[in-house]
Amino acid sequence: MREALIRPSAISHNVETLRKIAGTPNMLVVVKANGYGHGAHTAARAALDGGANWLGTADTTEALELREGGIDAQILAWLFGPDEDLSAALEANIDLGVSSVAQLHQVVRAVSVGKPARIHLKVDTGLGRSGADPRDWEEFFRSAKQAQDAGHIEVVGLFTHLSGSTGEADAEQGDAFSAALELAHAAGLDPEITHVAASVGTSDSPALAHTMVRVGVAAYGLPVTARYGASGLIPAMRVSGQLVLVKRVAAGLGVGYGHTYRTRAETTLALVPMGYSDGVPRHASNAGPVTIEGQRFQVSGRISMDQFSVDVGDASVREGQWAVLWGDPARGEPGAMEWADAAGTIPYEIITRVGARVPRVVER
Ligand SMILES: *Cc1c(COP(=O)(O)O)cnc(C)c1O
Repeated sequence: MREALIRPSAISHNVETLRKIAGTPNMLVVVKANGYGHGAHTAARAALDGGANWLGTADTTEALELREGGIDAQILAWLFGPDEDLSAALEANIDLGVSSVAQLHQVVRAVSVGKPARIHLKVDTGLGRSGADPRDWEEFFRSAKQAQDAGHIEVVGLFTHLSGSTGEADAEQGDAFSAALELAHAAGLDPEITHVAASVGTSDSPALAHTMVRVGVAAYGLPVTARYGASGLIPAMRVSGQLVLVKRVAAGLGVGYGHTYRTRAETTLALVPMGYSDGVPRHASNAGPVTIEGQRFQVSGRISMDQFSVDVGDASVREGQWAVLWGDPARGEPGAMEWADAAGTIPYEIITRVGARVPRVVER
């Protein structure tokens, strides 16, 4: 009665498209957070089929799960806890993103003799999140060079992440990144893979492409910036719920908790068995769109934990039919973008929060 249909062919197609847009020798597809809700393995395989030669995760545990599933592509993980033992990740040939001298030391402690850790140094060029602060760059690079000379690490990459606040801010971050790269060279480092842009930067700041881009949300088919408009990205997820109850009701009926919706005339209510525990945002109450047999309706009343109602008027809908919440606008389905707008959030949150109770059905 609930389903998230996942289309690996859409991910492969999107990655091929993004490779052409980026024009970089390397393409990393981010499959963190269970492949943005699509299933990490499904997403990883589809990305590699589409020509990605790198995969990215936040946590090292996510990277290890990919290895355990038999994926031997290059993987970069950039988030780990200060008490984490990194030896398993290093043993599994996972590249690590490192943001500080302390993290460098943590990596060095986990290195086994004769097998240097592959490191991407992360610099904060203006996002104000992870990465080394500019005032620490010289020391950061000096420590990395020492660890490299001692055979503990190999610095293969230098990277940063954009704030995406304005084109100007991103350009400034690009300049700061170039300065960081010069400093790294001056310290005797020669990172082969330099990467700055994620999905938005790949389309909007082509000058910042360097030798690799890290695309996430666009690979899943969400055109998060207007410049993707005509590029033909295909949403890879369609979330739907089967109508479990359809009933005729009188005018003036309060619908759902708090009676935030009231029927105006005699009408038909259809019950969709999905709620906020399935990732349907409660903030989209009385606003989120659905289509039933191609006809468009809207959530009526509050979205509760497991269910919401849809006033379909006099349309002839039947129990057993499916309501599509978000899918592919090109097929006449609402988009995750619309749900994001309805809930006052971003489409990332819509696709990544689909609950564990919603079975992922992989299209073959
Ligand atoms: C999540 C993430 C990305 C991907 O971002 P999108 O906007 O989804 O393309 C890239 N780089 C880093 C460091 C990230 O955390």
